[in-house]
Amino acid sequence: MPDVVAVDLGGTNIRAARVDAAGKVLGRDKISTLAEEGMGAVVKRMADLVNRVRGPETVAIGIGTPGTPDPDTGVMKSRAVNIPDSQGFPLCPELKKITGLTAGADNDGNLAALGEYWLGAARGEHIVLLFTLGTGIGGACVIDGLVYHGHSNLGTEFGHVTIDLNGRKCPCGCVGCLEQYASAAAVGRDAREALAKGGKDAQASLLWKLCSGDPQKADAKMVCDAARDGDAFASRLLDTGCDYLAAGVGSLMNAFNPSCVILGGGMALAGDVVLGRVRKRLDAGRAYAPIARDAKLVAATLGDDAGLIGAARFAFQKAGVRV
Ligand SMILES: [Zn+2]
Repeated sequence: MPDVVAVDLGGTNIRAARVDAAGKVLGRDKISTLAEEGMGAVVKRMADLVNRVRGPETVAIGIGTPGTPDPDTGVMKSRAVNIPDSQGFPLCPELKKITGLTAGADNDGNLAALGEYWLGAARGEHIVLLFTLGTGIGGACVIDGLVYHGHSNLGTEFGHVTIDLNGRKCPCGCVGCLEQYASAAAVGRDAREALAKGGKDAQASLLWKLCSGDPQKADAKMVCDAARDGDAFASRLLDTGCDYLAAGVGSLMNAFNPSCVILGGGMALAGDVVLGRVRKRLDAGRAYAPIARDAKLVAATLGDDAGLIGAARFAFQKAGVRV
């Protein structure tokens, strides 16, 4: 049975796994990225790693990277975070030269959605939207098992839809972006600000206890944990974050009419305390009712492996192997 090598190019490590056509991981390994050495050196190390992990039946390589690789050519269209000379680098052609294997690359967030479609929370779903709630909000869309990229591979930036006309500035250059209100980082920041303002409410809250009375230690996970335990102060904070999140998710649902929406990333690990709040708001008018009724809302299930599993699926596509 043919297999592929899936690669996850991260800022700290490059991870690789050999994966068969059933999605079974046959072996894995990792090495340091050492991004400061430049893309040429990174690709050589990546090739060494692939050669260590591959087997006699390996037919292709799939790579998830930050930034925007061209999924057709494997050339980096934008800089991969932390790797100084990555923009314009022919990642897949170079990798093929060294390993002799066909290679394809796509954005790591897109491949996480593809992984969840193949073996995770959205198995076999017709139209899948993924919102990854972390430092920012990543977005991805998979339609009938294929990633939707947009005209110049820059589509599905769900974290940067406008949610407040005169709102917070975003590093992307826009104003009032969803991720400035509903990412794990934003919920954590709002919690720290609310706690720092003090007041009886804040100091009597479970959230205050969880951060040991030091507002600067509060984060989104503590907000979710305290809200789950019924803490009113944390619940109000989480309600506000989920108000914004549901407005963003609902708008994108109205645009795509998905069969399944996945929430992933750190904040989705909180489970129903976040999912339940968003679901309630979608059903109460944040999405067009027939669209909301038809769409599942689920938490991602593959965790850190989602991108690798998606990269494997993409590699099989590149090799023309049906899975
Ligand atoms: Zn933005």
